[in-house]
Amino acid sequence: MAKAEKTAVTPTRQEDYAEWYQQVIRAADLADNSPVRGCMVIKPWGYAFWENIQQGLDRMFKATGHTNAYFPLFIPKSFMEKEAAHVEGFAKECAVVTHHRLEEGPDGGLIPAGELEEPLIVRPTSETIIGAVYAKWVQSYRDLPILINQWANVVRWELRTRLFLRTSEFLWQEGHTVHETQAEAEKETSLILKVYQEFAEEYLAMPVLTGAKSPGQRFPGAVETQCIEAMMQDRKALQAGTSHFLGQNFSRAAGIIYQSREGKEEYGWTTSWGASTRLIGGAIMTHADDDGMVMPPRLTPLHVVILPIGRTDSDRENALAYAERLNLALAKLTTVWGGPLQVKIDRRDLNAGEKGWEWVKKGVPIRVEVGPRDIEKDSVFVARRDRGARDKFSLGREDFISGVPALLKEIQDGLFARALAHRQANTREFDSYPDFQAFFTPQNSEKPEIHGGFALAHWCGSPECESKVTDELGVTIRCLPFDRAESGQGKCLVCGRPSPGRVPFAKAY
Ligand SMILES: [Zn+2]
Repeated sequence: MAKAEKTAVTPTRQEDYAEWYQQVIRAADLADNSPVRGCMVIKPWGYAFWENIQQGLDRMFKATGHTNAYFPLFIPKSFMEKEAAHVEGFAKECAVVTHHRLEEGPDGGLIPAGELEEPLIVRPTSETIIGAVYAKWVQSYRDLPILINQWANVVRWELRTRLFLRTSEFLWQEGHTVHETQAEAEKETSLILKVYQEFAEEYLAMPVLTGAKSPGQRFPGAVETQCIEAMMQDRKALQAGTSHFLGQNFSRAAGIIYQSREGKEEYGWTTSWGASTRLIGGAIMTHADDDGMVMPPRLTPLHVVILPIGRTDSDRENALAYAERLNLALAKLTTVWGGPLQVKIDRRDLNAGEKGWEWVKKGVPIRVEVGPRDIEKDSVFVARRDRGARDKFSLGREDFISGVPALLKEIQDGLFARALAHRQANTREFDSYPDFQAFFTPQNSEKPEIHGGFALAHWCGSPECESKVTDELGVTIRCLPFDRAESGQGKCLVCGRPSPGRVPFAKAY
């Protein structure tokens, strides 16, 4: 029997998925825990990935008519109290500032002093503070629509945290818009969901389902929440972006009133939408393997890394000179997506194998080795990150250079196809509750193996049936697909009452 190949990351996905995830982040040098409980340090490699995510999304927001602005980090407590459902949803995870000064105490320590008249909440989301500002800006229908996005950090106090997926502080964008009519606000909600879907699929190579949340899973205060849902490699769902139609709930709370074309006073129709550093967690759990991160080429901070190799000083010098010329030629290229090709020579005085593995773990799509024998043939030794780390091939220098943009595209498309195939292979229809139960019950309850997936089943629409499944199996309805009716009518998996179509149930992050 062949011995199992050693992997760069231990444990493997199969051995312990949750621990594998933490170890990939460490091996790829994406982020670190911080001295502040529940908060993460995003390291340069992870932050460069985030910057590319930001730039990609930002371009799409601007192309659909939005502009960026910035609003305060602090929200007066009274603002939060104005929208009842919103308060209920966020109250339990708010960080509250009650003092504004530190004074030296009797034993030399610092004591908070200068109690605030009204406590300030560190924004968990900004509907209320932005609503208060919009109420001043909006007078007439001529002031509408307002289409603004903010890039910011938010704080939601979490007791059980996981890097990129659930941290007390995280980075995100939040869009907040006001419209004259319900129809316009609904159109905005769908437009942004399309942006998120396109970004997830075409940039992150992460296939998603789209739909509306069931009433029980809506954003607190929203009339409708739409979402994108992806399947991770452990077959759990990840909500990767949400777009909320808020109706007039928040404009009533904040007093966003405009004079209509008919001269009447009307409440504005608002939306809000967000995507966060969670997308990085999604990319890791969609593409990374037992050797570390696998960066989607469209968003990777680095496309090609060149590794000069030589045993003797003169070999190394030759290799470096050859690498410099290769670097120059590659740096002139653009990717098929429009940006410049990001290429770098790893000049560090380290063992070649060590250097190579570091870039494998970071997930760089293409690694190129140049050593004496390659140079003699005017060729390079190429490895693609979507294949095994030891799977390398020789290619003439000219052919390699001219083929790089297409190769990156091929890798990007391959990652998407692989993720889609994984989702399809782990999506099943269920009409019997015992079968459904078995699907979501691991064989080994002590140390659950990877199991489950997306279960497409009928649901009557009652919150009781939904919570029964959640309470018994820890499974939630991920969304009510927009094309739900196409799956045909049936009977609710739980109670047998009529259902207008199937919905995906899954365990989720
Ligand atoms: Zn039911």
